Amino acid sequence: MGSASEELHILFFPLLAPGHMIPMVDMAKLFAARGVKATILTTPANAAAVQSTIKCTDDSLRHRITVALLHFPSSAAVDGENMSCLPTQAARQNFLGSLASLRQPFDQVLREHRPDCVVADMFYPWTLSLAKELGIPLLFFHGMSFLTLCIDHGMHRPNSPLESLPDDPETVIVLGLPHRIELKRSQIPDLAKVSSFLSDLFRQLGEAEMGCSGVLVNSFYELERDFADHYKKVTGRKAWHVGPVSLCNKDFDEKSSRGDTACIDCAHCLSWLDGKPPSSVLYICFGSLFQFSPAQLREMALAFEASDTPFIWVVRNKSSEWLPEGYEERVVGGGKGMILRGWAPQILILNHPAVGGFLTHCGWNSCLEAVSSGLPMVTWPLFADQFYNETLIVDMLKVGIVVGATEYVVEEGEIRVVKWDVIRRVVSRVMGGGKEAEGMRKRARELGERARRALEVGGSSYVAMGELIKELNEAKAAREKNRSR
Ligand code: UDP
Repeated sequence: MGSASEELHILFFPLLAPGHMIPMVDMAKLFAARGVKATILTTPANAAAVQSTIKCTDDSLRHRITVALLHFPSSAAVDGENMSCLPTQAARQNFLGSLASLRQPFDQVLREHRPDCVVADMFYPWTLSLAKELGIPLLFFHGMSFLTLCIDHGMHRPNSPLESLPDDPETVIVLGLPHRIELKRSQIPDLAKVSSFLSDLFRQLGEAEMGCSGVLVNSFYELERDFADHYKKVTGRKAWHVGPVSLCNKDFDEKSSRGDTACIDCAHCLSWLDGKPPSSVLYICFGSLFQFSPAQLREMALAFEASDTPFIWVVRNKSSEWLPEGYEERVVGGGKGMILRGWAPQILILNHPAVGGFLTHCGWNSCLEAVSSGLPMVTWPLFADQFYNETLIVDMLKVGIVVGATEYVVEEGEIRVVKWDVIRRVVSRVMGGGKEAEGMRKRARELGERARRALEVGGSSYVAMGELIKELNEAKAAREKNRSR
């Protein structure tokens, strides 16, 4: 239990999916570096991945972070304890449904630990009630941009914020935002149709958010200042931007083990990159969850072979039947490309000077990691907030070019295959010479500088985290004063 003489203690409870777990663990490291004691709550099957992400050479920091375990009741999460083990959208949705069974174990942990603050993932709206009962401030973490938070806030209100263009009913603009956002209807999930479970969950979250002490956002003010201001104004909620959190990983060990054990010898990967000219290599990765159909993978393989660009391509599919004949010998053996089958040391690769672009599914972490590395992007969104992130990257920040995906993926295998020559053309626009590519590279480099400055002493994210810590320390002191009366 906390006392006035003790350091501030924050309990972090991340969703059991890499895209939420990794940034929350990074966040815990950033808080620990500011003198906070951090406890990360997870299940036994996820403990190794969390430990791998905590890894750092600074002993004093490591000693401030501990991992606490809670267990799924035996009937839940039968197919695995992390969303990345589940191959389909349907299986991942069932998993989200099973998370409510963690409520009782969480309540027990909270009563035992009595931290000074809880940072809970948005998929755990039920964490709020006991935190409130115990007088512990609770902050939600969505793992999304301010832009997405603003759009989502509008979407879950009674009047739809979408307005069709008069001459093109399939294109909508999102009303009430500080900038014009234009999307295809097919890029926006109709939650009521996609799943009554998800729309119910978002309703519960919306209610819980009204009672929480605020939200933590992995972003930085300079990246999306108008949306950060807008979000706070329309929701009346406190929000602290503390990112890009991946920048807390400074040395080789931290970068190479972040998220999980890499499927490749990292030193070998770096020496392969050392042999390539600066900014020449395209890194291709679609995050931790999604698997493309064999037909789509084949088109990608053809595109990467036909383009002039060397590449590192992360493939999550286990099978190889889609690989064109002789591909491994010609393309991989010939030194043009590297195919990583499994977990890639993403930020280690993105930070290498030979990497000049990122073909991404626009997961928010990947977008931020590209921005932090000063890299332009080829954007290929699939689901969740990825289409919104694409508009930020391409239309507003102008550091990316779209492949042209227009369909929100509800079920894998049902989306239109993008042909190899389309992919090749976009890759060469981003990676080639010429004014367009040069302009994007320059803007991306400048954004990368701003991202780094945000986390430095006195930078916007550094200051925001300091303000939050001060507020939490004051609340802790007030609670203790009340208790001693
Ligand atoms: N990641 C990684 N290696 C991989 C795949 C993903 O390190 O092989 C990391 C990536 O750096 C990012 C996170 O996993 O931090 C994925 O989050 P994102 O929001 O980009 O996508 P999601 O996996 O949630 O779709």
